[in-house]
Amino acid sequence: MDLLSGLRSILPDDRISTGGEEIERHSGAIFTYHASRPPDAVVYPESREEVAEVLRFANERGVPVVPFGEGSSLEAHTIPIRGGISVDLGRMDGILEVRPEDFVARVQPGVTHGGLNAALAEHGLFFPVDPGWDASIGGMAGTNASGTNAVRYGAMRDQVLGLEVVLADGTVMRTGGMVMKSSAGYHLTGLFVGSEGTLGVFTEIVLRLYPVPEHILAARAVFPDIEAAGRAAGAVIQTGMQVGRVELVDARTVGAVNVLKGTDYAIAPTLFLEFSGSEAGVGHDVEAARAIAEAHGCERFEFEADEAAREKLWEARHEAGLAIRDLNPDKKPMTTDVCVPLSDLPGALRHARETIEAAGFDGAILGHVGDGNYHAVFPVDPDDATELERAEAVNGEIVDHALACGGTCTGEHGIGSGKIGSLEKEHGDSLPFMRGIKRLADPNGIMNPGKIFEE
Ligand SMILES: Cc1cc2nc3c(=O)[nH]c(=O)nc-3n(C[C@H](O)[C@H](O)[C@H](O)COP(=O)(O)OP(=O)(O)OC[C@H]3O[C@@H](n4cnc5c(N)ncnc54)[C@H](O)[C@@H]3O)c2cc1C
Repeated sequence: MDLLSGLRSILPDDRISTGGEEIERHSGAIFTYHASRPPDAVVYPESREEVAEVLRFANERGVPVVPFGEGSSLEAHTIPIRGGISVDLGRMDGILEVRPEDFVARVQPGVTHGGLNAALAEHGLFFPVDPGWDASIGGMAGTNASGTNAVRYGAMRDQVLGLEVVLADGTVMRTGGMVMKSSAGYHLTGLFVGSEGTLGVFTEIVLRLYPVPEHILAARAVFPDIEAAGRAAGAVIQTGMQVGRVELVDARTVGAVNVLKGTDYAIAPTLFLEFSGSEAGVGHDVEAARAIAEAHGCERFEFEADEAAREKLWEARHEAGLAIRDLNPDKKPMTTDVCVPLSDLPGALRHARETIEAAGFDGAILGHVGDGNYHAVFPVDPDDATELERAEAVNGEIVDHALACGGTCTGEHGIGSGKIGSLEKEHGDSLPFMRGIKRLADPNGIMNPGKIFEE
């Protein structure tokens, strides 16, 4: 049976695409310099049973399968580099259960973090992981995503309490549960979160929820240079105060945001901060943070007092990546994602700035610096082999610097096919173990081949 006839025996025709815009949408990625490659077919399952049948069929024939959420991952994760079937989970977007008294929700993978939070508002609860794209919960679990709230609440791995996973051969398996902790055997939930579609397809996800804080206050602290901003960020965290967000944007990023969002923020390295908790606690924390910022050369410390100004600030921060991309519409962004120990952050930021400038790139730096995680974004022409090589060398140098500090090549974006070499440098000793796990879950190598490592 050929591929199309086989898929037609599982799904109706209107849930299978083999051409046109849908093939195009599943060939590349929203925000990347990586070359695109079309899948042979895109399918839209609506249940775990359909996912299992598609996988069983593909596994018997050795056809590659690429799970697809919103396609916003940044290292070519969803590009079907060996062709095959792109399994789009977008129609499995149900919120199956919210248990407000247990702070838990059970969802299907296609619901986005924006969609989930809209549904949670009536319960006075929220889900904190907030990448700058309205990504799907399945995709966010796939990359162990984080975002601006991670400094307070952690990344996806800290929020996923349990999973329903369909393995390559169609076996359905459950990990974890509905509880806040468990010591029952190996931590398979933690293993599958961040597996980038290489071990199986998530069909249900149990998430931890949080009460919306009683009082929230946002602030902007403007610095003369990026290192001073990095030092201040580290010092704020080192006090142990319950800061909600600590985001760095450099002057280039602020300029781009002002153009995209019509804001008039000072064009200088800036920390966007958020404090939350009781009114008295927030007031105390803000004054302590202001004193720390000023001790590190902060030139201006301003509050976003009302809710509208606060929302605008975070909307501007979330869209900063798109703002930078829009400055060079003819090029594609390359984005680094290193994470370093907090005490190494100021030096790492300076190193990144100098490395980009020395190579002649017009790059911007921004990041979740409260975690030591930052991005250098520089536009490249993927059709210009020399420029691409230069950009990859800059990316490599930034990664090498982070590894020399004891950091990681990726704080939140993952490996995809773009950071395979960096993973080898970082974890060469544990790669054989990772490959062993891959072979156990997916002996025929059909699940998102060519991602995390070459087979
Ligand atoms: C403008 C912009 C800003 C961003 N900001 C951030 C940020 O602040 N923090 C951050 O962490 N990321 C950020 N990202 C990257 C991206 O949003 C995240 O990587 C996100 O987790 C991807 O979700 P997605 O739904 O788009 O998944 P996709 O890109 O569709 O998939 C991601 C990976 O998960 C796998 N996958 C998808 N669904 C499933 C499933 N059901 N079961 C198993 N595997 C699955 C895929 O095969 C793939 O390997 C940003 C991206 C953009 C474009």
